[in-house]
Amino acid sequence: MKKIVANFKMNATVEETKRYFINFLAKVDSAKAELTFCLPYTSLATGNYFLKGTGIKLGAQNLADEDEGKCTGEISGRMLVDAGAEAVIIGHSERRAKFKESNKTINKKIKVALKNRLDIILCVGESLTEKNTLKTLETLKAQIEEGLKGLYENELENITIAYEPIWAIGNGKNATVKEIEYAVKAIRKVLTDDFSEKAGKETKVLYGGSVNIKNIQSILKAKGIDGVLIGGACLDANGFVNLINLA
Ligand code: PEP
Repeated sequence: MKKIVANFKMNATVEETKRYFINFLAKVDSAKAELTFCLPYTSLATGNYFLKGTGIKLGAQNLADEDEGKCTGEISGRMLVDAGAEAVIIGHSERRAKFKESNKTINKKIKVALKNRLDIILCVGESLTEKNTLKTLETLKAQIEEGLKGLYENELENITIAYEPIWAIGNGKNATVKEIEYAVKAIRKVLTDDFSEKAGKETKVLYGGSVNIKNIQSILKAKGIDGVLIGGACLDANGFVNLINLA
């Protein structure tokens, strides 16, 4: 079964989240894909209320790099679990760019998430400049090696890698199947070289970047791809149900 992660980003109030799930759950066939909704912090309790017992996972979009204490404005892994989250996105390109999250910080966040038994969706991907200067593989290698530094092989079972080329996010310009396959092969090679053949083969790898109803089927057929991470196209409940039906 393919994995689909929905990233709401900074969208939906509590009331809008409530309306979304009432509509979505009435229409979705949740057996079509393994679903995770990564919601804003303020919508987690509502998400938990609606998703508990449905087999659909609840996730957040970030967490603090420490467990508690002097971290004004941050949310810890323990708090996410307490709010019902089972998963968390770490290292999304918008956080890397806007909040200057380094691979080192991302590595700390991954360790905190593992300690709290959260499933991790680690986002990696090159910028347009890196793509144009043929630095895609170098970027991916650094993001994975530094992000996963110090982890044990068995901990990779809790980690999904989302290949999200920055130039393809939120603009309708998805990567081609060939580009996705090239990157996914490189990601799997780094995992094989740094951990094991098993890690290279069995770690789940998703693609994210302008996935929509027109391109999801061909993207899901890309070699080495286990699913997709969806931003914009998950915000309309009816549209997202249609998209899931194509998985
Ligand atoms: C994302 O934000 O991770 C994403 C993939 O967004 P979009 O689907 O809108 O490109």
